[in-house]
Amino acid sequence: MNELFAPGFKETPYWWEAAPPPDSRPKDLPWQVDVAIVGGGYCGLSAALELRRHGVEVLVLEAERIGFGASSRNGGMVSGGLKLASGDLARKFGAEKAAGVLEEAAGSLGFLEELIAREGIQCHYKRHGRFVGAHCTKAYEAMAARAEALKALTGLDAHTLPRERQREQIATDYYAGGMVADATGGLHPALYHQGLAAAARRAGATVVDGTRVESVMRGPDGFVVRTARGQVKAREVMVATNGYTDGAAPWLRRRLIPVASYIIATDELPPETIKRLIPNGRMLSDTNRVLHYYRAAPDSNRILFGGRASFRSVTPREAAPILHRFMCAIWPELATVKITHAWTGNVAFTFDFTPHIAVADGVHYAAGCQGSGVAMASYLGHRTALKIAGRANRPSAFEGLGFPTLPLYSGKPWFLPLVGTAYRVQDWLDRRAG
Ligand SMILES: Cc1cc2nc3c(=O)[nH]c(=O)nc-3n(C[C@H](O)[C@H](O)[C@H](O)COP(=O)(O)OP(=O)(O)OC[C@H]3O[C@@H](n4cnc5c(N)ncnc54)[C@H](O)[C@@H]3O)c2cc1C
Repeated sequence: MNELFAPGFKETPYWWEAAPPPDSRPKDLPWQVDVAIVGGGYCGLSAALELRRHGVEVLVLEAERIGFGASSRNGGMVSGGLKLASGDLARKFGAEKAAGVLEEAAGSLGFLEELIAREGIQCHYKRHGRFVGAHCTKAYEAMAARAEALKALTGLDAHTLPRERQREQIATDYYAGGMVADATGGLHPALYHQGLAAAARRAGATVVDGTRVESVMRGPDGFVVRTARGQVKAREVMVATNGYTDGAAPWLRRRLIPVASYIIATDELPPETIKRLIPNGRMLSDTNRVLHYYRAAPDSNRILFGGRASFRSVTPREAAPILHRFMCAIWPELATVKITHAWTGNVAFTFDFTPHIAVADGVHYAAGCQGSGVAMASYLGHRTALKIAGRANRPSAFEGLGFPTLPLYSGKPWFLPLVGTAYRVQDWLDRRAG
């Protein structure tokens, strides 16, 4: 075995050590329900929980084991609108709609915190704050306006930190300065997912795994959901399959760009090393177009380092040396540290880089968190449930934005390697410029 890998190296998420997806035990399917939800990640489970709170009978159908998707594989870095606040929403949607989107995106953090507290979910949640490193001077200069916008939006501190002070947050000189944003947190994603599944079940939701939905057909009084294990009649259907959307939801598939993201976990490090590398325990990311996101594990002394290691299909074992190299560019002292886990999962981008709630042919959809969905996917599920239950005071800002696709696009993003390469070259040129 390559010496990069620790003995017992695994190609499964580090998170599954504490919270493995339970073995599949498919239950009998009911013949009829009020609402059938396709997909058992944060979005589907959060919707199921909210629907039960309004007394609606709900069935969640998951193709794999519960927790198979991105919701137990992600970096566990929680933000409310950090990404959207840096975009050009007003140009896309007009000032009023953009303000609504930003307000709800910022609110998704508070929503998540309340949900975790209310349901007593033990998932190491903490408001750590985040340091975002600028990959070049131009990116650093743009950060002041972004910090002001975030501060105004969240009411919490966000400020820039010049290159000569960045070591207050991270032991590196790799960045051209950065931004600290307080309205962000971190959690153990698989424990959060398990807690959410338990809460939905406690509330009375039926959650069935090992049951792939094959098609959803409209009937005279609702829908027929056909699965590999039989069919179910449902008054309403919600699809919450995000980066794993398959042929069962062709309308959604045409609107999402699935992108593989990869993470490695290092071997245990001395606690003082972690403290020195990340003095204030912040979550970390940067402004590269092909970004890095990384953090200390919440339950052991490891570094978890994530990014788009490749835009072609590679295995986690193939991705690990690439991520290790990125990590060592930031922290050269980790060059001899071994990797215990490497894994991958799919995020979903949209063509307008905005999450969406939509209805098409009577089916409800919520998806497209652009790799930032711990809070957002939970929130979108909640809002879709309120809509289905007829309990929303007003439509969510994520509804009615249009949900663009491209002519002839069927859900296979053949253009990703080209776009990825262009992004990497641009990042490299930016860094060379200083
Ligand atoms: C490696 C990685 C790192 C990430 N890091 C972060 C981060 O640090 N912070 C952050 O905020 N976000 C992060 N994300 C994004 C975040 O994890 C997702 O936005 C979020 O989990 C999406 O939740 P979901 O419920 O919409 O989808 P998922 O959790 O992906 O669930 C979708 C489910 O649908 C099921 N499914 C698909 N088709 C069918 C079918 N036909 N029938 C039945 N079931 C079906 C799949 O099996 C899957 O389990 C990351 C994602 C990845 C992959």
